[in-house]
Amino acid sequence: MLYTALDSTAKSALWVLPLEGDTKPFPFLRTEYNNYGGQFSPDARWVAYTSDESGRSEIYVRSFSAESVESGSHAGGKWLISNDGGSDARRRGDGRELYYRARDGNIMVVDVSTDPVFKAGVPKMLFQAPPTTSTVVASYTQWDVTADGNVFRCPQGQTLRYRGMDHQAQGHFYQTTASQCRGCPVKKRCTGGATRRLFVHWHEAARQTARELAQTPAYACSKRERNKIEALFSELKLRMGLRRVRLRRLWNVSEQFYLAATAQNLKRLVRFLAQRESAPVPCSA
Ligand code: SF4
Repeated sequence: MLYTALDSTAKSALWVLPLEGDTKPFPFLRTEYNNYGGQFSPDARWVAYTSDESGRSEIYVRSFSAESVESGSHAGGKWLISNDGGSDARRRGDGRELYYRARDGNIMVVDVSTDPVFKAGVPKMLFQAPPTTSTVVASYTQWDVTADGNVFRCPQGQTLRYRGMDHQAQGHFYQTTASQCRGCPVKKRCTGGATRRLFVHWHEAARQTARELAQTPAYACSKRERNKIEALFSELKLRMGLRRVRLRRLWNVSEQFYLAATAQNLKRLVRFLAQRESAPVPCSA
């Protein structure tokens, strides 16, 4: 068992408590920095943990074996996993993915492989996590990953289990059972059916980023600008017969488009001049 304890210099260190044989605890990682939140890989050969040795909390992985601890060296060195700060490292049950909480609260996922040597991929955002309710450093107890990393939990604590992939919709489906949702106090708000179904797109992280961007003032501004352009194309298509072109070949199409665009601009010019003429003349007296 791996646990965090404060040493005599008030720095947190990682300790190992053997559960068999000699059950005397021994230090795994005790440095002049804070090392905490350690977690073994499923095969107990690797430890993911948080350390502030770079000046801010980052996720690292170190190899582990009882022999290397006794000799004081950690053969194979250590690997930096996070790329912009992180804490609360968690492993998926099969050890193929590592999760952590980034500084901005996002839950990140990193592909890892250990055969024949340890390798970690680039961290990718998985989803925006709710803010932690704890202010203490070791808030890592507030979330966890299921053994196969493949279920979701609803606000009432029920699990939505994996039901399969939809190639056409390009995503995965998760669902509760009717008995899980029966009698739920928030069922009316949650689902109109007997169960709750959840669709997760293959590129859900990118979609989440797009949803967040859509809430920004810059997006609202770009939408207004895009509407002005789209309205012109819409007029060409719906009112000026450009839904289809009459002639083939690129230069013929260009010619038809330019003629239509000229007619459109003439209409706009007439509208503009008419507006100017009907505008009230300011009184100078
Ligand atoms: S209806 Fe089902 S999925 Fe929705 S909150 Fe209730 S138990 Fe959870």
